[in-house]
Amino acid sequence: MKPVQSTLKKWMKTNDRFKENYEKMKREVLNDSDIKQFLSLHPQLTERTIDKNLMKLYEYKTQSKQCTKCKNLGSCPNMLKGYSPILHVHQGDIHLSYEKCHTRRMYEKSQKQQKLIQSVYMPKEILQATISDIDTDQQRGPAIKAMNTFLQQVKDGIPPKKGIYFFGPFGVGKTYFLGAIANALKAFNISSMLIYMPEFVREIKSSLRDDSVDEKINLFKRTDVLMLDDIGAEMQSAWFRDEILGSILQYRMMERLPVFFTSNYSLDQLENLLSTTRDGIERVKAGRIIERIKQVSQEVFVDGYNRRK
Ligand code: ADP
Ligand code: MG
Repeated sequence: MKPVQSTLKKWMKTNDRFKENYEKMKREVLNDSDIKQFLSLHPQLTERTIDKNLMKLYEYKTQSKQCTKCKNLGSCPNMLKGYSPILHVHQGDIHLSYEKCHTRRMYEKSQKQQKLIQSVYMPKEILQATISDIDTDQQRGPAIKAMNTFLQQVKDGIPPKKGIYFFGPFGVGKTYFLGAIANALKAFNISSMLIYMPEFVREIKSSLRDDSVDEKINLFKRTDVLMLDDIGAEMQSAWFRDEILGSILQYRMMERLPVFFTSNYSLDQLENLLSTTRDGIERVKAGRIIERIKQVSQEVFVDGYNRRK
């Protein structure tokens, strides 16, 4: 019997303390200015209802509603970061719910937008490029003009069927332009996929082993805006040119989906390059690719000084 008695005694003791704590909590809750205001707006609430819902009122009291002082989501003191409590009365009872705060909404929006850019092997500085950071010098004028025209069309709700084929010397900012466009498109909920061509070839070749080629190619076919960086710098293979690049471009041409390119070569030079593979000279097949590139993009020369130090 002893253990039971001592347990009982202990329980009664804590129960006493519980009662004490409960009364203290109740006083604190009813003295809270927000709760006072809530109760004054709902004079119909009985003492019994208030007692029954004391835990909810207490929870409400402990959670911050002072979101105006909020610095960032990480420093939110609430149980669920970024959610603020709301009390309401429904059918004579008190209900507590949580609503996303402004900071949380903005955070979720930016997370979602971040996902709009998918990239493979692109440097961070390119992924952070913005249109407003681009300095307008004369040599890059035509490229900037073409970019602005494209973005204006998007803004006006006209889906542009052609992207831009930026070509010119090394280091003038061609890849940077791709990043800036991709970032500007996020605001319109348009997804882009950026890929560095030499890695693209490697990636596709390595996925031959695990049968994921089709899945990857489908992503490139279907993304809103495809961006192929440094075309012409990849290893030339007839298979890649015809089966992979050719089929992606064919699909996008038919579906009128824009493609952006950067290259050190003009389209004429690229045609020569694409026609020379290990299998010999194949002018017709190379010509077919160039034709498709012209259908999905507009060729623009970018000049300037080498910004790479
Ligand atoms: P390209 O692709 O033409 O070879 P990049 O786009 O890689 O050249 O640019 C070369 C370097 O110059 C990169 O380090 C890039 O971040 C920088 N850069 C290019 N354009 C700008 C710009 N408008 N503002 C700041 N940095 C730039
Ligand atoms: Mg580049």
